[in-house]
Parts: sequence; structure tokens; C-alpha cells
Amino acid sequence: MDQDYLQQRLEVLHEAELDTLAVRAGQRRTAEGEHSEPIFTTSSYVFASAQEAADRFSGAQAGNVYSRYTNPTVRTFEERIAALEGAEMGVATASGMAAILSTFVALLKAGDHIVCSRSVFGTTTVLLNKYLGKLGIGNTVVSPVDIDAWRGAITPATRILFLETPSNPMAEIADIRALSALAKEHNCLLVVDNCFCTPALQKPLALGADIVVHSATKYLDGQGRCVGGAVVGRREQMDEVLGFIRSAGPSMSPFNAWVFLKGLETLRLRMEAHSRNALELAQWLDSQPGIERVFYSGLPDHPGHDLAKAQQRAFGGVLAFRVKGGREAAWQFIDATRLVSITANLGDAKTTIVHPATTTHGRLSEEERAAAGITDNLIRVAVGLEDIRDLKADMQRGLDAI
Ligand SMILES: *Cc1c(COP(=O)(O)O)cnc(C)c1O
Repeated sequence: MDQDYLQQRLEVLHEAELDTLAVRAGQRRTAEGEHSEPIFTTSSYVFASAQEAADRFSGAQAGNVYSRYTNPTVRTFEERIAALEGAEMGVATASGMAAILSTFVALLKAGDHIVCSRSVFGTTTVLLNKYLGKLGIGNTVVSPVDIDAWRGAITPATRILFLETPSNPMAEIADIRALSALAKEHNCLLVVDNCFCTPALQKPLALGADIVVHSATKYLDGQGRCVGGAVVGRREQMDEVLGFIRSAGPSMSPFNAWVFLKGLETLRLRMEAHSRNALELAQWLDSQPGIERVFYSGLPDHPGHDLAKAQQRAFGGVLAFRVKGGREAAWQFIDATRLVSITANLGDAKTTIVHPATTTHGRLSEEERAAAGITDNLIRVAVGLEDIRDLKADMQRGLDAI
């Protein structure tokens, strides 16, 4: 394959738009001239000589050594997700939790402190309280929307502010620009879990965040097949994260990287379709007499509506609502559905429904749940790509059962 031909086709990507990057960024064709990205299922790599082996191991020569360190399929995914987020560098991980763990452990030490939104993925809370706590890294949780609370929680030991926006499941919208200013003022890094929006809808780095973490398991895959994650940001911090992953081992498998690459090709199309379906379903639920309240930032009466409009391209695929009644009514609603899947996963073409108080948020204390708005009559729906008429009909089955 003519190297000039390949090179020309890489150079235009420096200025490409999101959809183009999602399809093409990070690909380097091999001498076979394959069109689709290959899966390099190899754990190690061979060297031309003992000298070359020594140079690769010492770092004197760049190149592959072992797939815990680098793998061409994984590298393509890393370059593509970094390009989509507008980051200098990306690092792939075995899961979303591995991305979060690696960021914290690589960049923090005993005695450091994290200020964390109280509305983050449940396992993130366990990681912070049980495991990072054991390593001497403390944390304080605050409401994601209360900037004074964030300011008040920062101590001289604080190094990282961590949040998700929109939050799960109440769709609270944190002000990334304002929190980025606060982080800079206190010499902290702002780390955003961009799982719910993906770079197709929200670019936290452009809004001032320092690092973005992902659970690729959700919308980056988009079809519920593989577990994986990513961390993207500036080279300075990503080199540390990569160093941790190489030493500790939570690297991404090449097969999973390939699935995520295929997922990324349709990312914006899917995110817009998820958002369109979710908005229509939220509006419909909002007009039903059996529903007490709908939580979706696409609805004009949602407290985060204006901010979501300013920092997101659409409102995303996840919504929550309270039915009239208590836990029993919520369970009756869920059990009467026939089409949607009762599962806690999200970011899938298939719509999912779950009762947060007894599943995803079941480990929280009653007070913590109350503070987060996770009442017993709350239901979360991660809206998929089915026809909206069928989704409404299924929600109607739920309403009829109460
Ligand atoms: C699922 C999820 C994670 C964890 O990702 P895994 O791939 O399951 O490890 C982290 N953050 C958010 C917002 C998630 O939804």
C-alpha cells in the first residue's frame, strides 16, 4: 500500500467534524489494505533481532511489546474516543469502573481528597468510600447543582472534583463551566463521567473539564454487548493513567475495542434517536393522570432545562418518573410491561426499565435516597431505539396495571 496515499487520508482528519472522526479517526491500515479495522488478537509481538527486543523493552524504540501495554485495535479505539472528545490522548480500560479507579489511583495519593457529586453511579460511591478510603483518599459528597456546596466542600487537600451530568436517574444538570472555574481557582482537576451524553451530545473538555471518563459499556457500544471504559484528557495526566493501567492490568481486550469502534461509527445517529424517543416519551408520560412527576431535562419545567440546552446538543436517552402510589404501584407498573426489558443496564438499542430504590440505589441509606430524590414510587427508563408508538403502548400497560 502506498504510504503517501495513507498519509494523505490521515491528514484531513485533523480538521474533521464529529461524524467523520467517529467513522475514521485512529485507523491505520496494514499492508493488507483491509477496509474495516482488523482485530489484533495477539498477546505479544515479535522482534526482528535481540537488539530490537532490547530497544523496545527499554523504550529506546517505540512499538508494541505486549497487549497489556499496547494493542493496535485498542489504540485505534483510544485515538478515536480522544478525537471525539477533543482530547490530546485517550486510554482504554477494561470497564467504566476501571477508568474511574485508574484515574483516581494514578493521580492521587494518601491524604488527598475528592469532592464528588452525590448523584453518581452507585459503584463509584462504593469505590470512593470503601476502597479509596482504605488507601487514605477521603471524599465529601455534594449536590451536583449547588455550586456553593462544591465551594464549601473543597479543602486544602482537595485534588479532584468528580461528577456526572445529567445525573442518574434524576437528570440533574451540573454546570460544567462554573465547576471548571472553581476547580481552577483551587488547583484541582475537574473529572466528568460523560457516560449519559457521550461526545455526540456534550463535550466536557470544551466546557473546561480536565478529564473525561467513560463506561464504553453503555452508549459507545450502544447494543449491550461488551464491558469497557476510557479516560481522555491532557497527555500529562493520561501518561500517568496509562502507566497505572500497564502496571495494574485493567486494559481493554482487542475484541471489545473492535466492538466499540463499530459502535462509535453510529454514535451521533443513535444518540439523537435515543434523545428524540426519550423526549417524546417524557412529554407523553407528563400528560398522563397516573404519573406524579417526570424527571427529564428536555421538559421546560425541569430545573436544569436551560443549562442542559446550553451545554448539550440534545437531552439524552434516560428519564425517570414517579407514579401515583408507592413501591407497590411502581412494581405493578414495571411488571405489567411486555416489550421493555427489566434490567439496570442502559445505553442499549433495547429500552430498559428499573426500580432504582430497590436495585441501582438499594445500597444507599434511606436518608441518602431521600436526599437524592430516589423515592419508592420512582421508575427509571433508558429509552432505546424501538418505535415510539410501541414504547408508549407498553408504558400504557404499566399505567393500566396500577
Ligand atoms: C455503568 C456506569 C459506570 C460503570 O461502568 P462499567 O462499564 O459498568 O464498569 C460508570 N458511570 C456511569 C455513569 C455508568 O452508567
